[in-house]
Amino acid sequence: MNAAVLDSSTLCLFDVDGTLTAARQHVTADMAEFLQLLKTRVRVGVVGGSDLDKIKEQLGDDVIQRVDYVFAENGLVAYKNGQLHSVQSIQAHMGEELLQDFINFCLNYMAKIKLPKKRGTFIEFRNGMLNISPVGRSCTQEERLEFYKLDQKEKIREQFVAVLKEEFKGRGLSFSIGGQISFDVFPDGWDKRYCLGIVEKDNYSTIHFFGDKTKPGGNDYEIYSDPRTIGHEVSCPEETRKICQQLFLS
Ligand SMILES: [Mg+2]
Repeated sequence: MNAAVLDSSTLCLFDVDGTLTAARQHVTADMAEFLQLLKTRVRVGVVGGSDLDKIKEQLGDDVIQRVDYVFAENGLVAYKNGQLHSVQSIQAHMGEELLQDFINFCLNYMAKIKLPKKRGTFIEFRNGMLNISPVGRSCTQEERLEFYKLDQKEKIREQFVAVLKEEFKGRGLSFSIGGQISFDVFPDGWDKRYCLGIVEKDNYSTIHFFGDKTKPGGNDYEIYSDPRTIGHEVSCPEETRKICQQLFLS
């Protein structure tokens, strides 16, 4: 029963924060060791929303060598078997034409809103998304709270998103209101499901996904409930380990 046989048709994908590590913490030595053991039985990948540097901070500088896949930014930056596999960006995907139409529309819309305070960085351009903030991301903590209170009353972000959804209907864009002063815009499917498109070519017969934010609105929800995966909801790294132990190592 201890004879280790690698089942290379099964892939286990893990969220990072709250699933392999405690929130924003380093992986424990025990957990790192467990992943190495698991890797002798099934293929192992990690998928995080943050960038590769952040994932390395939590899982170690050699994480790319230690697991079969590392998907940073939900897989927009993908490593397979220790090598860079692919990089995707919002500008490459959307094209400059649509991207500029969208940015211009947002700037125009924000130019017409009167707020108690307006600061700077109204649109932040990231690799996989645009972050739009009517008050501006360079506001102070006090100005941030002031906007947040007003937004709760007047639904500034909600209305903005509703207008964008109508204006850019059918253009493949998703919107997510989070935090206090901004919302995110990204192509449809560019949540953690993005990495499933990459592993599709490797023809796994079973893909397990482990995550802690699996409820609607959580960043694991889409991949957890995707028909291509068997989803496991966990509350902490210890639980992740326990479930894996039962499924693959007993
Ligand atoms: Mg998590």
